[in-house]
Amino acid sequence: MEKTITMIFHNLGLRSYIEVDLCRECPREDDKGCCGYYSPVFYPCDFAYLLENHTDLLDHILHLPGLTILDYSITVNNTPEGNSYRCRFHSKAGGCKLQQLQRESICRHFVCPGIDWEKEESLQPWKEFFISLADYENKINLTIGEKLAEKGLTLRDTNHHQQFFEQLLILFKKETAIKPDFFAALPLTEEVKLKRTLTFKADWPL
Ligand code: SF4
Repeated sequence: MEKTITMIFHNLGLRSYIEVDLCRECPREDDKGCCGYYSPVFYPCDFAYLLENHTDLLDHILHLPGLTILDYSITVNNTPEGNSYRCRFHSKAGGCKLQQLQRESICRHFVCPGIDWEKEESLQPWKEFFISLADYENKINLTIGEKLAEKGLTLRDTNHHQQFFEQLLILFKKETAIKPDFFAALPLTEEVKLKRTLTFKADWPL
């Protein structure tokens, strides 16, 4: 079955994301799609966004069960369900309960290999953009993590979370004060239509 898929690329710097209309009628037909195989991991750039915009959500994440807390990241581990898993932010009825900008980077950037948008010649600038963005974000996260460690601050020490997050936000503002050139290289949004032949259930590649 051939289908026209609409993708919208959103250039919002460190909160950039890709919207895909096919997710609303995922060919996997299991009410989970790609989210059934992933546990979101939040890093300093995500914490900085939540600290500035959604402190209630950050507090909610910190109190969830089944967390893996490392020095400067938190994995919200999924739970087994059927032949796969269920992300703790996923609902059967409406998909991801988080707003786009609240999601961590893999969740904002991932598009299933069944669509394979990166092979389109016309979309190479967006491919380069998201590669540069991942490199840039990893560098910022690592730098902030190292500087927090130098101050003796780690997420594992739950008694000093307030101090950890205060310092994290100060470091984030400093490290991101100068924007990289690639942020300005592409428009704020671009909508594209791609034609793909759909397969269903386990035949649709994730
Ligand atoms: S956070 Fe949202 S987008 Fe990410 S895996 Fe969970 S349900 Fe899916």
